Amino acid sequence: MTEHYQLTSEQNILKETVGRMAQEKIGPYAAEIDETGEFPWDVHGQLKELGLFGLVIPEDYGGSDAGMLSAVLALEEIGRVCSSSAIICAAPIVVGRIILESGNDEQKRKYLPQIASGETIPAFALTESDADSDLARLTTKADREEDRYIINGRKYFIPLADVAGLMTVFARTGQGSAMDAVSVFVVERENPGWSVSRIERKMGTQAIHDCELIFERCVIPEANRLGKDGGGFIIAMRSQEVSCILTAARTIGLAQGAFDYALGYTQERIQFGRSISSFQGIQFMLADMAMQIEAGRYLLYKAGAEMDRGADEGYLYGSMAKCFVTDMAMKLTTDAVQLLGGYGYMKDHPLERMMRDAKLTQVVDGTNQSRRLVVGREILKRYPTTV
Ligand SMILES: Cc1cc2nc3c(=O)[nH]c(=O)nc-3n(C[C@H](O)[C@H](O)[C@H](O)COP(=O)(O)OP(=O)(O)OC[C@H]3O[C@@H](n4cnc5c(N)ncnc54)[C@H](O)[C@@H]3O)c2cc1C
Repeated sequence: MTEHYQLTSEQNILKETVGRMAQEKIGPYAAEIDETGEFPWDVHGQLKELGLFGLVIPEDYGGSDAGMLSAVLALEEIGRVCSSSAIICAAPIVVGRIILESGNDEQKRKYLPQIASGETIPAFALTESDADSDLARLTTKADREEDRYIINGRKYFIPLADVAGLMTVFARTGQGSAMDAVSVFVVERENPGWSVSRIERKMGTQAIHDCELIFERCVIPEANRLGKDGGGFIIAMRSQEVSCILTAARTIGLAQGAFDYALGYTQERIQFGRSISSFQGIQFMLADMAMQIEAGRYLLYKAGAEMDRGADEGYLYGSMAKCFVTDMAMKLTTDAVQLLGGYGYMKDHPLERMMRDAKLTQVVDGTNQSRRLVVGREILKRYPTTV
């Protein structure tokens, strides 16, 4: 557990470039994006132009193969100004990685270039009304009929499904335990038999529509199954590894963005004839925030570096980073609102939005309780009991 990370000059340039673009081209519209709740196609265009959808996809398939730590750096910079925009960038990285790891040559050649280029927006569809933390309760079924599968069921809370060109869908293909009875399929927009039945009303990340999906005799060729029949459980676990580190990445950015804003405000706001940043009580809050962000960032970058090394440690550190950073950001954004007093509660300032967006990060990609279970189990594996 002692390996450390070092950013390369390419990674520093990437962070700077994405940061500049985000501050200039996304930040000024973040409040509007939240207010209108419309999918920001121009932001999608900016991310596409910088090639950010292909960060973990090999060059042979149209990506830049920059790796997970680079993806973390890019998402941090986008998350600093707009959580919805960061989710648009994260989805292709998660789904691209699933197809890269589990797809056959033909599937990689077919899907990865369109994901890397941004021509197709992908979505990830696992959750059901009674199943997410507990995959054994998955009820969406894919019945095999000769060389195709027929999918029936419903999925809940699926972001981007309304604009997606393809989705990875998890469905039961057998009766036994979830470990060997769940499979994953690429469902394309053109495949008949699926539709968006409802768009959820929610607390934050308004531009990303979380959809309820209905599958009614949705016919999928066998060629669209990723991995082996019944191999979906491992794919679900691996995809959570990736998505949780990306959630931590956009959230460290969110925390930094909230801190920067609150810090600037405390330096300008005058009470009792002095800037409020001169009060020790305020300085203690700023100091705690700065320390927590630094600690979280270090853990997160280490997780990204471990994943790039292909080490098992990536799973452990990714879960640690997800829990630490998202819990920290929830507290930090709440404190940042506090630092602005009454103004913090108002929509004229970005902090109430950031606080709403922070809450989601503790819930998605494995709730923080389930991430803690992973951390606990992984630690016990490394330090087995001697009694
Ligand atoms: C905005 C948004 C975006 C989402 N994006 C996606 C997506 O892209 N794709 C997708 O498939 N799903 C997505 N989801 C679903 C999300 O991943 C799940 O909602 C989340 O993982 C929790 O599952 P659940 O809602 O079924 O809660 P439950 O599993 O019912 O959990 C309820 C509570 O019980 C706790 N709990 C459960 N089991 C345990 C345990 N063993 N020990 C201790 N506590 C436990 C949980 O931590 C939680 O606090 C999204 C959800 C939201 C709100």
